[in-house]
Amino acid sequence: LPHHTGVVSHVAVDIGGTLAKLVYFTREPDTADNGGRLNFLNFETHRIDLCINFIRQLKEEHEKRNGSARDGLCVVATGGGAYKYYDRLKEELNVNILREEEMECLIIGLDFFITEIPNEVFTYSDSDAEPMQYAEARPDVYPYLLVNIGSGVSMIKVSGPRQFERVGGTHLGGGTFWGIMSLLTGSRTFDDMLAMADRGDNSAVDMLVGDIYGMDYTKIGLKSTAIASTFGKVLRLKNDAEQGADGEGSIRGDHPSESSEASHGPKPNPEDMSRSLLYAISNNIGQIAYLQSEKHSVKHIYFGGSFIRGHRQTMNTLSYAIRFWSKGEKQAYFLRHEGYLGAVGAFIRRQP
Ligand code: ADP
Repeated sequence: LPHHTGVVSHVAVDIGGTLAKLVYFTREPDTADNGGRLNFLNFETHRIDLCINFIRQLKEEHEKRNGSARDGLCVVATGGGAYKYYDRLKEELNVNILREEEMECLIIGLDFFITEIPNEVFTYSDSDAEPMQYAEARPDVYPYLLVNIGSGVSMIKVSGPRQFERVGGTHLGGGTFWGIMSLLTGSRTFDDMLAMADRGDNSAVDMLVGDIYGMDYTKIGLKSTAIASTFGKVLRLKNDAEQGADGEGSIRGDHPSESSEASHGPKPNPEDMSRSLLYAISNNIGQIAYLQSEKHSVKHIYFGGSFIRGHRQTMNTLSYAIRFWSKGEKQAYFLRHEGYLGAVGAFIRRQP
């Protein structure tokens, strides 16, 4: 239910593969013209009915306040769902739906956050006393790379206001983490998954440089704690456990009644797998982002999309990857409203 008493004038919704992001403006009835606030919320896309109901309530409120619905509520839609659900939105809301192109909205939203909103953009590094530092506005905004980590990942080079090109992406994204995590751990919500990753120790399942070398691999500049292979230790651990259970050297199957559990091995701890998978996805995206930034001569890399969700390990991994590969030449930036770039862009583009 709308938790406000203000007058709603304008709603934008960015309907992605996983989440529908809603942004709307409310104006307190008795304040000056431009006094108001932006509200942010999201719904799971598979419950688009809840999202539509919410917008319907905003619409009814709008009509109530405005007497006759002379100026109907303005609903702007972007993302794939603006196409997939277009007819449904139109019919069920009985309003005109204005559609806007997704990448354009992302960039307009990001430009707005970078140039207009103080305390929105920040850098992150766990090795600093104060890991989160708000970024000063830079006079040289362009060019930059936007890496949007939603269900999938898009990388967009922006060369000037509304001048952009999608240069690449990867399908190993937030949806991959979300899907594989549900298989591995049985957790059902994204925040549970992140909390599990917080508690885990990836070295229990990942093969580290130290597992191979027994020490740092100094010549190459790899610390013993560097990950050599994500999940690379899992089968080895299972085999060890089996040998332990069956007695050294015994061949599994000799005692089928006793070995049925051992033949599946002990399942690695879900927390450890969560941490490992979070690192795998974030490191991979960080490295591809770095390579794209090199290819397209860009120094500043902004990470957006709901996958990030202000999570420390995710941001630290992305930030570390950019600093490590660029030898400190390039910088990763994050946003407080990272999931709402597209919705804010759609909102601004059709601002009355
Ligand atoms: P899309 O536009 O593709 O839906 P988003 O930017 O909304 O992409 O990001 C979706 C991703 O964000 C999911 O794949 C998941 O990794 C993560 N995520 C964050 N919050 C949630 C949530 N409440 N439910 C599901 N996934 C979430």
